[in-house]
Amino acid sequence: PYDLLVVGGGPAGAAAAIYAARKGIRTGLVAERFGGQVMDTVGIENFISVPYTEGPKLAASLEQHVKEYGVDIITGQRAANLSRNQLLDLELQSGATLQSRAIVLATGARWRQLGVPGEEEYKTRGVAYCPHCDGPFFKGKHVAVIGGGNSGIEAAIDLAGIVKHVTVLEFADTLRADEVLVRKAESMDNIDIITNAQTTEILGDGSKVNGLRYTDRVSGESKQLELAGVFVQIGLVPNTEWLQDSEVERNRLGEIVINERGATSLPGVYAAGDATTVPYKQIIISMGAGATAALGAFDYLIRTSAE
Ligand code: FAD
Repeated sequence: PYDLLVVGGGPAGAAAAIYAARKGIRTGLVAERFGGQVMDTVGIENFISVPYTEGPKLAASLEQHVKEYGVDIITGQRAANLSRNQLLDLELQSGATLQSRAIVLATGARWRQLGVPGEEEYKTRGVAYCPHCDGPFFKGKHVAVIGGGNSGIEAAIDLAGIVKHVTVLEFADTLRADEVLVRKAESMDNIDIITNAQTTEILGDGSKVNGLRYTDRVSGESKQLELAGVFVQIGLVPNTEWLQDSEVERNRLGEIVINERGATSLPGVYAAGDATTVPYKQIIISMGAGATAALGAFDYLIRTSAE
């Protein structure tokens, strides 16, 4: 068995594996795809001490760093269940089971997609999901935010300070965001809010986004907006469905509940990054959380090793 098994190979998982391996304990890392969401990112300008890098480049250095230690890396495998017996048993979708004394869960999250034509095609070429990450690329331009919940309205307020104009499109007849955020957005003169708007297509010129089409759900009319960017803010879904039969507590959004040491409700199981209740989902935050979870797990191991 492993002393510590990390599930996930994004920034959180890579940091956890490095911190664990540096303690000289037997460490494994299992991931569907090494690099995680970073692999889908083009420009990264907020990875502190590195003014500019690109996702695949950062993912390659993460992998190289992990490989400098004797971490057993298993990729192309999906975890399917987790249970505690003598040890912790991690069942893989392939049918195999990996055993470990402690586990760090770092399976990340995915942005909920609109599923309309143009979205996939123009991803990273005008279609964006993270205002903290990509907002500055649209300085002085007109953008849309799709989704009028808290994350959509926060994104609109945040972007309005950088871009020229923000149009918020909400499917329902009212915004679902907190009143205080709605009032703030309504008070800003470069934010427009359109409710009852069903986005039907993201338009582009073949190389980048130049607009979108939506249907006015009251009149049934199809309308078009000219834009340089579209921020999709309809939810971040944690990759934790596979834990539904486990004893690991999750909140109503599916995020793994952790304490300040990264411990979950199941002894010996720690978690880090976008899959957890951590309030902000970013690369640098995930890396710090991965380090915390590995140190938390190491503390657990030294306290239980006498058994
Ligand atoms: P992830 O990166 O999501 O990694 C999850 C890992 O778990 C992957 O290896 C995945 O294959 C694996 N996995 C998932 N489910 C399973 C399973 N069942 N079994 C086995 N393995 C599994 N943040 C920034 O700080 N700056 C940016 O500029 C930035 N830009 C972004 C741009 C885009 C397009 C996106 C999508 C995100 C961006 N982010 C950015 C956010 C950042 O990528 C995430 O906060 C960060 O990657 C989270 O790290 P993580 O390790 O928690 O999870």
